[in-house]
Amino acid sequence: MKDARTTELDAVVVGAGFAGLYAVHRLRGLGLRVRALERGSGIGGTWFWNRYPGARCDIESLEYSYQFSPELQHEWEWSERYATQGEILRYLEHVADRFDLRRDVQLDTLVTAARFDEPTHLWTLETDTGERFVARFCVMATGCLSSANLPEFPGREHFAGATYHTGHWPHEGVDFTGQRVAVIGTGSSAIQSIPLIAREAQHLTVFQRTASYSIPAHNGPIDPELLAEVRADYAGFRRRNAQMPFGANFPLGEKGALEADPEERGRVYEQRWQRGGLGFITAFSDLPLDREANETAAEFVREKIRQIVRDPETAENLAPKQVIGCKRLCVDTGYYETFNRPNVTLVDVSETPIQEITGSGVVVGGREYPVDTIVFATGFDAMTGSLSRIDIRGREGLPLSEKWSGGPRTYLGLATADFPNLFFVTGPGSPSVLSNMVPSIEQHVNWIADCIGWLRERDLAAIEATPAAEDAWVAHVNEVADLTLYPSCNSWYLGANVPGKPRVFMPYLGFPPYVAKCDEVAAKGYEGFALAPGAGMPPGS
Ligand code: NAP
Repeated sequence: MKDARTTELDAVVVGAGFAGLYAVHRLRGLGLRVRALERGSGIGGTWFWNRYPGARCDIESLEYSYQFSPELQHEWEWSERYATQGEILRYLEHVADRFDLRRDVQLDTLVTAARFDEPTHLWTLETDTGERFVARFCVMATGCLSSANLPEFPGREHFAGATYHTGHWPHEGVDFTGQRVAVIGTGSSAIQSIPLIAREAQHLTVFQRTASYSIPAHNGPIDPELLAEVRADYAGFRRRNAQMPFGANFPLGEKGALEADPEERGRVYEQRWQRGGLGFITAFSDLPLDREANETAAEFVREKIRQIVRDPETAENLAPKQVIGCKRLCVDTGYYETFNRPNVTLVDVSETPIQEITGSGVVVGGREYPVDTIVFATGFDAMTGSLSRIDIRGREGLPLSEKWSGGPRTYLGLATADFPNLFFVTGPGSPSVLSNMVPSIEQHVNWIADCIGWLRERDLAAIEATPAAEDAWVAHVNEVADLTLYPSCNSWYLGANVPGKPRVFMPYLGFPPYVAKCDEVAAKGYEGFALAPGAGMPPGS
């Protein structure tokens, strides 16, 4: 149905974070009429919403940034090794202005439904503003960690004080001065915010269900020598990083941990610890594969925790028991040290869960911890959450939620059978959260834009993953994951943090082979995809 509130486009993009902005840039470059629809009142996606104290990237800014424009890459000055949320948002705003992207971004617009129409091969999107957008191609740039997970703690609604979720932080900030604060959760968001909240609060009580492994960031101003070296050959720096397992500058140790003697192992771990950051996990080649090898790295970190945290009982509670790396590794500035402060208490809720939230506190094992403010650092309905909030329907009205009721199924994380012309950026089944997100986003958007360009050159109306290619890819993603220790713990990679979510390992392990596979599929004329002949190209093209 066409009316005054219907806009015809060639491509519609959902989201205006790193992925959506770049998708607008690339698709516009093909001459398409494109618009990004963004629920936020500003661009930036993750970096618009996650404004909690201490929020910053945990991949170094020199590579947690776009590479599509050498000029942008050379001009932009990152001030720190790991940029703050504010600096990353300023960067994205600069990118939006520099490439004139804002005129094709519509803010304050929540996409509620997306429906594929079989005869026309067009998608119709509906929004909470009552508008309709009709386009041949629909690109979901909705983010992997954008749908907040707020557990149903009994009595939550009765709490009289203020509550916050780290993923929806107020723009004006929060002043914790003089307050008794609870932080629930000890993942990356909590680990970044706890040291700063502890400095302001009168008392901070941290409720921990699973202890996390965290490696020091050793953040600081960017080393000028390193900067000069990278800038002398930025493209080479990017190319080399893309060959590493996570698509980030974490060189993989040449040997296995068990091939090294204890002295060498200790030396290597210490070097990685001193260097700081997520690259700790690639110190030896067998850490994700072999429990005994993994335990050597896990025990090294536990020993560090015991050295840092003065109270032995607290140190033991903070020492994680699971395989290191199977839940996302964290990067911190003074996290474990914070538990030496007299105004910080750790409450272990691994065996005795949070019983209820009352008007004035959090109850565990019959004991109430009185607090004025609660910070839920309880994470996200990862990878599929922001897609399942939209009523997406493919061929013959098939809801995506029904198709994915047993867990997400995609071909290359880019597309799913029965949903022609629908693309996911860093969707489930792609390296996404197990890679450096920004290069992964660029690789996906480039692939999608090249594919759309290819279809247009041939006057093809639609592209769709075949069920056989999808089945084979899902099986392959699982096979690779099953060779590793990743499925061994209750991580959000498996959907284990959201009650009732099917337990399926969602990211694909291995950035370089993944990119090679995507390139090969495209070179073979989009092998594994079915193509529909042109019924005339998109309206207006
Ligand atoms: P998260 O890693 O999922 O952590 C959520 C925390 O809440 C976990 O400790 C979890 O415990 C706890 N929790 C959830 N439900 C609970 C319940 N019912 N009772 C008690 N505890 C509960 O979420 P996040 O910290 O927001 O991080 C999510 C991801 O975002 C990260 O892994 C990372 O990929 C990304 N991130 C990145 C950065 C960065 O780049 N700097 C910063 C923040 C986040 P369990 O572990 O037992 O489930």
